[in-house]
Amino acid sequence: MARCLIGCGSNLGKRREQLDRAVELLRFMPGVTFLAASRYRETRPVGGPAGQSAFLNGACLIETELTPHAVLEMLAAVENTLHRERHERWGERTIDLDLLLYGDLVLETAELTVPHPRMATRRFVLEPSAEIAAEFAYPPAGCTVGDLLDNISATHPLIAVVGVPGSGAPEVAAAVADAVMGRVIHAPTPLPLPARYDLGLPAGSAATRWSQVLAAWAEPLNRGQWDDDPHPVIADYWLDELALAAADDLRAADLAVFEADFSRLAEGIVAPQVAIMLMADRAALAERIAFRSRHAHAHTNVFGDLATQVADVSDSDRAAALVMFQDRLARRLRCLDGRGPRSPKAVITVDAGDLGQAIAEATAAVEAML
Ligand code: ATP
Ligand code: CA
Ligand code: CA
Repeated sequence: MARCLIGCGSNLGKRREQLDRAVELLRFMPGVTFLAASRYRETRPVGGPAGQSAFLNGACLIETELTPHAVLEMLAAVENTLHRERHERWGERTIDLDLLLYGDLVLETAELTVPHPRMATRRFVLEPSAEIAAEFAYPPAGCTVGDLLDNISATHPLIAVVGVPGSGAPEVAAAVADAVMGRVIHAPTPLPLPARYDLGLPAGSAATRWSQVLAAWAEPLNRGQWDDDPHPVIADYWLDELALAAADDLRAADLAVFEADFSRLAEGIVAPQVAIMLMADRAALAERIAFRSRHAHAHTNVFGDLATQVADVSDSDRAAALVMFQDRLARRLRCLDGRGPRSPKAVITVDAGDLGQAIAEATAAVEAML
């Protein structure tokens, strides 16, 4: 038997009746014990085409012997009964039922991802969920549903857009900040990565150079100078990116010095509540590196965080190195064991292959928390 949390929404037709019907159908499904339903609340549509009407959102808690895929099929059957039609992504719907949590299961398949990959920043999901299941565990962050709601309710949230050079992090961060009237913080220097150690870093001995970059990156996040403007702040970096990169470059003794510096500085800075992790594939990165090399002196600054040329390294090898670093970064963001006070509780993964789409996804994730 597994407890499942299910998110429900409707913004087309008789919203309340359709939600009631969905709850009723779930209540009488074989293999399902119905535990609780939240109240419905009206929410503004997020992410979809303009001009949609408001949603009614709710959540239910059930206990079931069905497998996760069988639960998804059951939800689809209920949606079909209530005439759900799929046209545009995030378009209007008579009913939407999402499997948010299935016990403490973490699963990623083509048809089903559990926990629901976008739930951690969605106020319209977390508010009704916390009403009936605040103590339900959210395994990716080692916290509860109630903690997730508190997390996005920080008075002055910091959102980190995390990605390797060429993933579009500066562009996405700037566009999101624009859309939500937030403030953007760009990394003071590009992320120094193996193939470009000779480029971004100031002169000096290796450990000193890294500590200088660290100090520059930490400075805008310093608690002491954090204003109390209630708008969100969108940074295009996460301080831990530096720790990962330094570990590639420094010898053990130097690394120990750097890591001590890192821990000391990290205590005084504001940590992100939310990370938007941009994932680009090798082909996209190689293409962007080639684009930067061709347009080194052009007026565009798109993907300007990519160094324009690196001696003796092919575009394709650089792209491969970036992908390796990207995987480690994604692992560090998601890692449970290493999850310290600096780790964001909400991590939203966004495909960075198409910059416009990445901006739309990231903006929707941030708008949903406000
Ligand atoms: P979002 O997923 O961002 O809330 P949506 O609910 O509008 O958007 P749908 O069109 O309803 O998206 O679903 C698209 C597909 O998502 C479904 O066909 C389903 O296979 C898949 N999916 C993956 N994980 C889940 C999940 N946990 N719950 C529901 N659907 C899921
Ligand atoms: Ca949904
Ligand atoms: Ca859905």
